[in-house]
Amino acid sequence: MGIHPNVLKNIRHVTPYVPGEQPQRKVIKLNTNENPYPPAPGVRKVLEEFHTDALRLYPDPAAELLTEELARFYEVEKEQVFPGVGSDDVLSLCFLTFFNSEKPILFPDITYSFYKVWAELYRIPYRCPKLDKEFRMNRADYYQENGGIIFPNPNAPTAVYEELEFIEDILEHNRESVVIVDEAYVDFAGKSALELIERYDNLLVVQTFSKARSMAGMRIGYAIGNKELIRYLNDVKYSFNSYTLNQLSLICGAEAVRDRAYFEKNIRKIIQTREKAKGELANLGFAFPDAKANFIFATHPDYSAEELFLALKKADIYVRHWNSERIKEYLRITVGTEEEMRILFDFLKHYIK
Ligand code: PMP
Repeated sequence: MGIHPNVLKNIRHVTPYVPGEQPQRKVIKLNTNENPYPPAPGVRKVLEEFHTDALRLYPDPAAELLTEELARFYEVEKEQVFPGVGSDDVLSLCFLTFFNSEKPILFPDITYSFYKVWAELYRIPYRCPKLDKEFRMNRADYYQENGGIIFPNPNAPTAVYEELEFIEDILEHNRESVVIVDEAYVDFAGKSALELIERYDNLLVVQTFSKARSMAGMRIGYAIGNKELIRYLNDVKYSFNSYTLNQLSLICGAEAVRDRAYFEKNIRKIIQTREKAKGELANLGFAFPDAKANFIFATHPDYSAEELFLALKKADIYVRHWNSERIKEYLRITVGTEEEMRILFDFLKHYIK
């Protein structure tokens, strides 16, 4: 029979975001930019001591415990912090809250592919200025009229980082729009745009626990910005789903933030492995824009990226590849442990003659 055409007509049709594979067996997993090291040791302790009786109750809808810990860590007021279920949840609510203009929002043509999905889902007009050949944003593209701006810094999947001077220039030219900087990978890069939030009340910085804090499985993200922007974000959140972060994520997240030393050590290790991996890739003939995230976006002049992707996968080494224009000759390789990278490079050394 099938669904009646008139019913079909009223169903929202969307092209969803395609997440990277999560194979349910052990592979060398360098495909979704997770952290190869465990979360802060205190998190394990919190889990061990957790009383399941606490699960009877709804979690705190304001997630105060976590919000206060983040506010302390980033030296802002708790009213400037908005937590959510991973930065995907936070970003999606930001689209819904801040991008309500008839004018198109702007984001780069090569970027986090979820932006386009949210724009389509919420029927927000959008325009995608092209990155240049080096995968850099042209700042003048963002001087045009718009209904808002969003980009990751470092960008994904390119790992290219723009200095704060660039962000500030975009902010200066866009006093009348909300500018969202998605800093999922900033801890591996350089300065965060958080430095600018006091000066620009139209700036929102979004970060995550999934990368530098090794907690992708807990689903925690947050936005930090001007109190008034955060208030509007909360109004939309409470119109959608008030209990977002679950009880365990709240207490584990707060515990992770308390351990600054572990956080910094973890980042240093990954940066060290990344820098070594750049040398190895260059020796094998790969080219890549300078990577400032926990992944490297690499292309080889003599081997198609798809061929390499499939050969690696056959050897149980998972990296990410997109069959889309402009980037189909690239592989995005997450920085794993030293040992995982050794296995990757052993394979590539044999494959690339
Ligand atoms: N922004 C960017 C640029 C990302 O690459 C990712 C990870 N896929 C996210 C946001 C979302 O991460 P999460 O929802 O795990 O915080």
